[in-house]
Amino acid sequence: MQGKISMDLTFCNSEEKFSFDELVMKVADAFEHKAIAELLKLILGLIQEVLLARIFAGRTLCPECSDGKLALNGGYNRNIRTSVGEFTLRFKRVKCGKCGATHVPLQKLIQFRRYQTKTNELEKLVVETVSETSYRRGVAQLSRDGKITLPYRTAHEWVLKTDCDEIQVSSKVIGSFPLEVMADGTKFKGEGVNGKARQGDLKAVIGITRQGRVFPMGTWAGTSWAEINEEWKKQSIKLPDGSIIICDGEPGLADAFADYVDEQQRCQWHIKRDLYHAMHGDGAKIEEIRPLQDALAVAMAIELPAEDFQKVPEADKDAIEEQMENTERVMVKFVSYLEGKGYSAAASYINNARRSMFGYVRRWLKWGLVSHKASTMVERVMRELARRLKNIAYGWSDKGAQKVAGIILKRFASATEWENEWKERMRIFENVVISVGNYKCSSQNFAH
Ligand SMILES: [Zn+2]
Repeated sequence: MQGKISMDLTFCNSEEKFSFDELVMKVADAFEHKAIAELLKLILGLIQEVLLARIFAGRTLCPECSDGKLALNGGYNRNIRTSVGEFTLRFKRVKCGKCGATHVPLQKLIQFRRYQTKTNELEKLVVETVSETSYRRGVAQLSRDGKITLPYRTAHEWVLKTDCDEIQVSSKVIGSFPLEVMADGTKFKGEGVNGKARQGDLKAVIGITRQGRVFPMGTWAGTSWAEINEEWKKQSIKLPDGSIIICDGEPGLADAFADYVDEQQRCQWHIKRDLYHAMHGDGAKIEEIRPLQDALAVAMAIELPAEDFQKVPEADKDAIEEQMENTERVMVKFVSYLEGKGYSAAASYINNARRSMFGYVRRWLKWGLVSHKASTMVERVMRELARRLKNIAYGWSDKGAQKVAGIILKRFASATEWENEWKERMRIFENVVISVGNYKCSSQNFAH
């Protein structure tokens, strides 16, 4: 279909004097807030007229029975919000004279859902904006940018209703090569219950492929690690042999993933940091803690050869295994040392951590795969999530937090993937061409 639109723009200025600045602002305002929305409405209206003209000319038959003739059968008005303004459009309905089926030709052509009140491009703009800042600041920014004026409650409702946060962990996403999985949790200030702020709890899991590509595996609010394990079981999620989980010592975390991975690596950065907190809690002095922390960091850092695993001589592999086993024995001694000093919290912490201190070495020895020793990457995501969740004036519901977290995680993991998903959703397949020709201007004195 092709159409041409001539736009009529009237201007009126004082004969005495007027401000050039005002002219610029008024023209900009007319285009930003009125003209483009009017233009959209006009184009849709014209397309609808062409569709109906074809129907009445008998060139289009009933899509249901492919036989009956169609006749007008009322319609409905729909207020539509877009990123360039909002307008009301009348959708006209037609009815088949034979089978009685009705349909709305324009709605069908533009694939607008029956109760849809906003465009997908606007939904994308709003969810992206509010996931970067707070709802209040987000809607203020959209209004300032001349995009749309929206109550922040509406923006919030849109986020609660969207499904763009959904994360699919299909076998296609997982692939067939062993993964590194990183999981972490953070707290956030939840919405008040009986006037008291509730502490919310948010979790995120990411996967890293052998090529280093990061992809989201899920975000949850108010869900325990054990429940996440159950959820994955229900979805029949399987990870390739040789996959590893890298995480901190949060209770229940590593256990929840034990069914899915072959190795687990306690984040070494955490082990070093937490030793400090545990010993400090046990009453140890900083001068005593620091050297032990440093010695621990050195002991944990077993260097793996940089070359291809296959090319590493067996003797070198044996030496690395021996070094790991020696260090594990040293850790047992270290635990007794801490116990002897009366640092019981630190002793039980290290005793717990030593079991998964060298997951990365075991994985390399068994599968020839190099892994991260710290869960830094997922922690960066969590910090970002926590920062944004803090930005809101009122507290978050679990559902709201999980939605926004999903959006942030997806965008963080892969901006390209996020854009592609939206392109698919918006069906941007180059089926529309718009070209702008010359504007013509005529003085009112000569018009008509
Ligand atoms: Zn029919």
